[in-house]
Amino acid sequence: MPASIQGELQPTIYRFKLGGFEVATIMDSKVIREGLSPSFGGEPAAAEVKALAAANRIDANRYQHPFTPFVVNTGKELVLFDTGNGSLSAENEQLKGRLPPGNLVARMAEAGYKPEDVDVIVITHGHPDHIGGLTKAGAPVFPKARYVFGAADFDFWKKGENVREARKFNRELYVKICLPLADRSTFIKPGDEVVPGITAVDAFGHSPGMLAFMIESEGKRLLNWADTCGHYVVSIQRPDLHLDVDDDKDKAAATRKRILDMVASEKLFVAGFHMPFPGLGFVEKTGNAYRWVPHSYQLNL
Ligand SMILES: [Zn+2]
Repeated sequence: MPASIQGELQPTIYRFKLGGFEVATIMDSKVIREGLSPSFGGEPAAAEVKALAAANRIDANRYQHPFTPFVVNTGKELVLFDTGNGSLSAENEQLKGRLPPGNLVARMAEAGYKPEDVDVIVITHGHPDHIGGLTKAGAPVFPKARYVFGAADFDFWKKGENVREARKFNRELYVKICLPLADRSTFIKPGDEVVPGITAVDAFGHSPGMLAFMIESEGKRLLNWADTCGHYVVSIQRPDLHLDVDDDKDKAAATRKRILDMVASEKLFVAGFHMPFPGLGFVEKTGNAYRWVPHSYQLNL
């Protein structure tokens, strides 16, 4: 009997030490999307995006879009950054087929973390794939957690002014999921500390008040840049290209360039929510060009 075909298998948990902290990136889910162009850069950049794809040996149209929350155990508190898609697609007709079901709780369990172990949940920004796992059927999924939101982002979604058409349903979700959590939440701005060793960084643009986070322990540093870059080739090699899911497109592009420059010049390691799993790497700058370099073993030594 020949061996049977087992099907695709990809890792979904990656745990490592960062100084005195333990960090785990956990893939909540992934989806194959069509339309690398025009999603990135619109029609005017179609030929360039196609050429970039060919040069980087990736498909010019279909791309894998992972959703990767991550956990930092500081030794005192367990901090979860973002919550993936949760049961959004099951609970909302509008999202069926657009967002995959989330697996965060099951995969956190494989990594050794129970929902009640989570002390702090940091929401980098209010888009569905980041807030979707906060609640299930209206009840908090992480029963003991307190919440940290960017003040500007929370205000934007709460007020609901100047929400573009494509984000109107996102705003409804935000009102339903996040506003009821306000009395267990703190609201921070760039430069504020979440817990000792974790500090917010301005990443406004993709969502009007998105925050990135510098995580530092015993001299080791890692930047969680959230959705600053949506694709590991296009967003990094052409940070100026507008992305359809960026809310403030000019600001998002300016933020991308500023953060890419910081990451490259300070030689920082990065955790990116939509970077290829395990979502870790660094950015190399040659002349004016940036390139994503995936993590190999540097954080495991
Ligand atoms: Zn996202």
